[in-house]
Order: sequence, then structure tokens, then C-alpha cells
Amino acid sequence: MSSTTEYEAVIGLETHVQLRTRSKMWCGCANEFGAPPNTNVCPVCLGLPGVLPVANEEALRLTVLAGLLLNCEIPARARFDRKNYFYPDMPKNYQITQYDQPSAVRGWVDFEFEGAIQRVRITRAHLEEDVGKSMHFAQTSGVDFNRAGVPLLEIVSEPDITSADMAYAYLNALKDILVFGGISDCDMEKGMVRCDVNVSVRPRGTSQLGAKIEIKNMNSFSGVRRALEYEIQRQVSVLKSGGQLVQSTRRWDDQTGVTEEMRTKEYAHDYRYFPDPDLMAFVPSEQWVNDVRKCVVELPLARKQRFMRDYKLPAGDAQVFVDDVPLGDYFELVARHTPNPKGAANWVINNMRALMVQTGKALKDIRFKPEAIGELVALVDQGKISSKSAQEVFAEMFLTGESPSAIVDRKGLVQVSDTAAVEAFCDQAIAANPGPVADFKAGKAAALNFLKGQVMKLSRGRANPALVGEILEKKLKG
Ligand SMILES: [Zn+2]
Repeated sequence: MSSTTEYEAVIGLETHVQLRTRSKMWCGCANEFGAPPNTNVCPVCLGLPGVLPVANEEALRLTVLAGLLLNCEIPARARFDRKNYFYPDMPKNYQITQYDQPSAVRGWVDFEFEGAIQRVRITRAHLEEDVGKSMHFAQTSGVDFNRAGVPLLEIVSEPDITSADMAYAYLNALKDILVFGGISDCDMEKGMVRCDVNVSVRPRGTSQLGAKIEIKNMNSFSGVRRALEYEIQRQVSVLKSGGQLVQSTRRWDDQTGVTEEMRTKEYAHDYRYFPDPDLMAFVPSEQWVNDVRKCVVELPLARKQRFMRDYKLPAGDAQVFVDDVPLGDYFELVARHTPNPKGAANWVINNMRALMVQTGKALKDIRFKPEAIGELVALVDQGKISSKSAQEVFAEMFLTGESPSAIVDRKGLVQVSDTAAVEAFCDQAIAANPGPVADFKAGKAAALNFLKGQVMKLSRGRANPALVGEILEKKLKG
């Protein structure tokens, strides 16, 4: 690991995300995963001659929304260009993309990493189209064009990332934002997110960038992390042994865990970009952009910070309400009805969630009202019922929807805090357990807990535990 103290990595990521639209980018074919090969195709996405693309407005809207969620500026004018290259799964021999006039520029993503908030700047986010998928069989190869023309958002980061772990944290934060905002389902299993990585290393403390190595087309975040760990070590050992690195593109092999060279790097001019003559520039009105702006949701990190600040919740609880947004929204309804939101969060997270899993119930099936949890918290906080009884009350209200006070009354669960009554239970326990009493008097402090337990049992869990401890000790020491 000494290499990582002498050298530092400089990492930028290009993340491709399929947008959540019903139809493809330039035609009406379904944007749908898993259909039989070449069933969601038409002359437009097959690249047949004489057809004209028509831009999918929902894809344009999601692109601008993603830009806003990533704190980007939205340029007044964006344009589509042709990126020319040959690939068997791309029937037009060019890909429509946004080259020098993208839909979103200069933003950032904030995320938690190693106990602090990190910021990675976003260079740009642009809209393009996905390509088909080559399939290789024993004797033949085939191409499935169902994916060709699916709207694809490419999010390019600045080289602000300094380690494989940080890249992993950034990608997860980015994914959370895009899922929160309804931009993409980001289903990795279905190939909805793919990454290209640019990574170079340089002696720590220097500012000149080393030769940039690109690793193409990775489809899992853990793969990105492993590829970066491998590639950083590889580059460092080349430099340390006096070798030279050249700008190139490599492929990550997830099976063997190594990267291998594909080609030395192509440059932008190799693609002969030019404006697509079939497509108008995209010049959204201010009103249109403002309407999109109304769909900007609270981001995961902001939500977590708000829950910690406003409800005084620990980070773990707040994270639960970020990961499960409907549960968090429900908790916010509960929190309106209690001065002790942490107490309410415990019921929602520990008891309610567990019972929902056990019974297969959804939030809409919950029979009690949110304020009932506030009422239960108050009963405990005011010492009216023991926390043990509260467990019973919760299970009952989950089952019947009855209010906590009604259950407490019906089952006679009011906590006994009357000194005389508790003393009577204590006397009974002492009389019935001479052995433990003798143990305690001989100095075995643990015997007291046993006796406390006996008192709670005698009182059917209703005796005030603090009072029980107090009275027992007084009686045994006296
Ligand atoms: Zn089509």
C-alpha cells in the first residue's frame, strides 16, 4: 500500500443512464426491457433510409430535470449531432448525441464519504441514443435492436474523484438522485446504467495530469471499484519500474479481475461530429424550464440532513427514511403529533416495519391513524404504561386499529406507580424467594435483577420498574 501514499489517482466518470420513458428517443417503439429480440423496432430505429427522427419530448424533459437535480445550468439552446463510427449494433453508422451544445452544464453532486460531505463537479449531462446489443452464440452472432434508440443520458464528471471507494460512493449517490427524481429506474441487472472511467495517477503533490487511461463499458458499481483498484495499482507499478503510460482504452474483465488494452485512445476528431440536419436545435422556453423545475424533488442527502436536524434523529434512522421514502413520509405524519419524534421513529422503524413484513401489509393497510403512535409515545413518556406493556399495546393496535388508550383501559395495563401497591408485590417476591434474597445480602448484586423480574411477573408487567428497583433495594438493605 506504500504506492498509494507516493502516488494519487485522478478519476473522472462518464455514466450512461437509460431514461424512464415509455417510448424510444426518435420513434414510437416501446422502451421496454426483456421483449423478444427485434420486436420493438421500426424503420427509424433500424436506421433504414428515408426516415426522419422526431425527438421524444419526455426524454428532453427528463434530461433537463436531471440537469436541475445535478445543480446544472440549463443552456438556452441545445443541439443534436451525429457521432460517426461503425459498429455492428448501430445500424445508422452514427449515433445521435449532443456534442458541443449539451442540455445541462456545470453542476455538482454532494455525497457522504468517509464521514464528510464530498463534492464532485459535473461537467455536463447530455442526451443521446442507446445502441443495439450484439449476441454471440456457438456458431453465429446476432444483433438485437430493441435497445437501439432508447434515450440515454450521459453524465460526465470532472476528475474530482481520488480513489476507487470514492468513485463507488459517487456512483451510488448519483443513482439515488436519479431514482429519487424519477429520471431512471437505474436497474443494473437490466443494464440501465453503464460507466466509462478515466483514470490516471501522478506523484502525490504534483499537479500535472498523467496519461489518461479509459476503461470502457462497465455495468456494475462494484465492477467499477474493482477495476479502479486494479488499474491504479497497475499504473503505479508501471511508473515505479521506470515505464511509461500512454493514453489508451482498456477493457475490464470481471472474471479474471484485470484490465487489458483494447486500443490506443481515439480523439474527438476521429468521430467527425457534425450537427444532425434532420433535427432542430432544442430551445426550451423559460416557461417550459420553469415547469420542469417544479418537479425537482428533495435529494436524498438533503432529506437525510433534514430528518437529522428537524427531528433530532440519529443518522441510521434518517437513512432508513431516505431508503424507504413512503415510510419516511408516514413518519413525518406521526411526528406532527408528538414532542418526541425519536420515540415515534423507534415505533415506526422497529415495530411497525417488522409487523408489516411479517403480515405482508402495506402502509395503506395500516389500521391505526398516525397520531396513535404519538399517543402511545406519550403514554410511555408520562409513565402511564411500562415500555413492556407498550409493546403489547402496539401489537394490538396494529391488529385492530383501536386507540392506545382504549387498549390500555380494556386490558388494565395502566402502570402501577402507587408505592403501597408496588410494596405489596415486592414483599410477595421477597417472601417467595429466600435463596436470591440471601444471595443479594451476601453481596451478589445480580440477584436484585432476578427479584425485580419476579415483581414484574407478579404485577403482570404493570409495576413501574424504577419504583420496583427503589423499593426492593430499600427493603433488602434495610
Ligand atoms: Zn423504432
